[in-house]
Amino acid sequence: MQEEVISCCHDHPTAAHFGVNRMWLKVRTVCYWSNMKKSIHDYIRSCEKCAKFNIRRTAPPGHLHPIEYPQGPLELISMDFWGPTPQYSTNGNKYVLIITDYYTKYVIACPLPNNTATSTAKSFVEQFVFKFGIPRRLVTDQGVHFNNELMQNLTMLLGTNHIQTSAYHPQSNGLVERFNATFHPQLSKLYNAELNDWDDNLAPVIYAYNTGEHSTTGYSPFQLMFGRYPILPINHTPATFKFNRPSDYWMKLIKCMNVYRQVASKKILVHQQQSKQRFDKNREDPQYEINYLVFYKVPGHRPKLEERFSGPYTIINKQHPSYTIQNNHSLTSKRVHVSDLKLVYQRHI
Ligand SMILES: [Zn+2]
Repeated sequence: MQEEVISCCHDHPTAAHFGVNRMWLKVRTVCYWSNMKKSIHDYIRSCEKCAKFNIRRTAPPGHLHPIEYPQGPLELISMDFWGPTPQYSTNGNKYVLIITDYYTKYVIACPLPNNTATSTAKSFVEQFVFKFGIPRRLVTDQGVHFNNELMQNLTMLLGTNHIQTSAYHPQSNGLVERFNATFHPQLSKLYNAELNDWDDNLAPVIYAYNTGEHSTTGYSPFQLMFGRYPILPINHTPATFKFNRPSDYWMKLIKCMNVYRQVASKKILVHQQQSKQRFDKNREDPQYEINYLVFYKVPGHRPKLEERFSGPYTIINKQHPSYTIQNNHSLTSKRVHVSDLKLVYQRHI
């Protein structure tokens, strides 16, 4: 009886899958039973349509899990794509490959005509590795341009540990700072559909960023990467020139880098703690176990009438906050972040 009443006030075409309060007010006009609100709540929680289509009104679940912060340049770098632009630039480019060093915040940006595995690997080696050295760890998302055999062989050859975050969740590896995202608006500002020469101005914009003080470290990325001040157009050329021995310069450099490193590391640590607090606030951190049934958030932008969550899927591997989920029909599996999951509730009444 109770289920029929609730179902009638929720699933019926005239009821339109209302929420708990609205339904409670409606049911109350017809009948009443003890714990009525709770049974309505449980019923709606287990409604597949509501789970798949409703917009989540709270922050996506999942706390920040900080990983060990790099202690120096090239210990951890990230790679990410911006684009494609609607048309090719006059130089024939549509994408920008952005490579960021986490410790120094130093950014390099390569305009590219495409984002294939080959162009990605080639730019990574020629524009980064051969200029700065081999990075110890590399973070990318699971996009096909990063997640492929060529990249696997390349990182193995270099001895770089390639970490792939769950798609759409750069924060899942614990680094909430949106380095890549920081750059996207800058690039979008550069983009001008009429002139289409945005890539001509890319290098000066990146130089301006690299030579500006970064709020997290208190130094410019340039200083932390090279251990000296960048020379800017506003700087005067000195009238005198002092000839030092290379070994004097080396000693001075080591001393100077030690000071930089201590100050920057302290600031980074404080910043990381603050970020975690801010991120975790008002956010639940559910953990799911193997064999739990879950819905998975359909990634990206989709038309308004399409499902927001798909499934159910079964959890087949747990490495909180990462989970491997298996499609119950096709038996295909994928690795996802906890914030894209929602538990499937069974109906008890
Ligand atoms: Zn519903």
